[in-house]
Amino acid sequence: MTTLVTGGAGFIGSHLTESLLSSGEEVIIVDDLSTGNERNLAALLEHPSLRFVKGSILDVPLLDELVSQVQSIYHLAAAVGTFTILDKTLDSLRTNLHGTENILDAAVRHGARVLVASTSEVYGKNTKIGLVEDDDRIAGSTLKNRWSYAGAKALDETFAYLYWMEHGLETVMVRLFNTVGPRQSGRYGMVIPRFVAQALAGEPLTVYGTGDQVRCFCHVYDVVPALRALMAEERAQGQVFTLGSSDQISITGLAERVIAVVGSSSTITYVPYESAYGAGFEDMERRVPDCTRARQLIGFRPSRTLVDIIEAVAEDQLTNSAEVSVMSGGKGATDPESALRSRARVLSAEPADHPASIRWAGASQLES
Ligand code: UDP
Repeated sequence: MTTLVTGGAGFIGSHLTESLLSSGEEVIIVDDLSTGNERNLAALLEHPSLRFVKGSILDVPLLDELVSQVQSIYHLAAAVGTFTILDKTLDSLRTNLHGTENILDAAVRHGARVLVASTSEVYGKNTKIGLVEDDDRIAGSTLKNRWSYAGAKALDETFAYLYWMEHGLETVMVRLFNTVGPRQSGRYGMVIPRFVAQALAGEPLTVYGTGDQVRCFCHVYDVVPALRALMAEERAQGQVFTLGSSDQISITGLAERVIAVVGSSSTITYVPYESAYGAGFEDMERRVPDCTRARQLIGFRPSRTLVDIIEAVAEDQLTNSAEVSVMSGGKGATDPESALRSRARVLSAEPADHPASIRWAGASQLES
């Protein structure tokens, strides 16, 4: 069984690849290293069952060649992160829309099964507590760049659904709600790696807006087994699944929790949205999934807590101090030296070794 992971050098993709290799699968990664990083694959690049191809999902001949060699595709490659979407809006739209179409076209030609990663952003301004798959999208203006990401991903889902309906392509669509954990970079805007880096450096945590906006954070180790189970499940075909935690926390609450867990002396500073993202930015007030569908079909039930997540991210950043330094000079700049000086109690235990023998650290938590 050979599997293609698009975006396999990214945060989720690298964990997924590790998990697949640990079960003896052959894996091909295609990644243009735009937001992914070869460092994420450091322990895997020499693995005999892995082929890494630096390339774009906009390269149709390349995709055709790669897809002809596989039975299944996890399509995770995308332009992600609020800063990325706002800085490179048109390029991001092309990648997220045409890239997915290219993957689906190649999959139809070669008869591969596809899992398409989508996002809770598709719900837009819907603040319902417990968003389910069939809930309405409340779309923001097409003239506000932030919403172009939601628009592209929503169309990706529709594309995949229609390829299933009209071509019989085996597809499953997964809406990820704030997946976090080791290796996630703060460079593109994601809040947890940013707060942790700031806390480790003893700098103020930059809360954007009022801090009352609510999110639910799910450990990547809980998400990866669910992706694999949905790919394997015949009854998942042609369906959408929400995947995430339902534990709500405000962003101010998150900042306080990070400071407490890291044992930092940092304070919290409030930054207006306009300063963080530019004029006219609209945030999502609340995003809370209801994952009953995934729980009933594959036993999805996240087991890691927010504290587990913060500890894992802090340990990862201290082990690989590059993450702390990538934020230097940017919003909430941090100093790696001071981060290392403030090694907090999260490091009272020695950091785990990077997995050398492809024993994936996130064992499956799914119920049968
Ligand atoms: N956020 C923040 N400070 C940061 C980065 C993000 O307060 O340094 C906020 C952001 O405005 C949003 C929330 O944290 O309200 C989650 O942001 P993220 O980009 O991680 O995910 P998403 O907005 O896609 O849920």
